[in-house]
Amino acid sequence: MKLLRASNEPGIIQRLQSILEDAGIKCILRNEFTAGLFPEVPASESTLELWIVDYQRLPQAQRVLADLKNSESGKGIPWNCSSCGEALEPQFTACWQCGTAQT
Ligand SMILES: [Zn+2]
Repeated sequence: MKLLRASNEPGIIQRLQSILEDAGIKCILRNEFTAGLFPEVPASESTLELWIVDYQRLPQAQRVLADLKNSESGKGIPWNCSSCGEALEPQFTACWQCGTAQT
């Protein structure tokens, strides 16, 4: 497991989790139930953490986040799947049709 992001804003982490899971990357939350309880709970335990279950998918996850950042700043461009030719929106980093990652 690899820590991908930590934040005191649960909304951000939960959104990232759903985006990553949409991309087929399994991830889990830590401190889900203690998040936001600082200072009653030490900062290390009250910061919501997003962990990637399979560390080998970390580069892919980081790419998803980078792409997300790009698309949110308006830099994303639509692309076509190299395998099946499906036209895809910039926010996707893998083909929803056949699962091929963006190249
Ligand atoms: Zn495809």
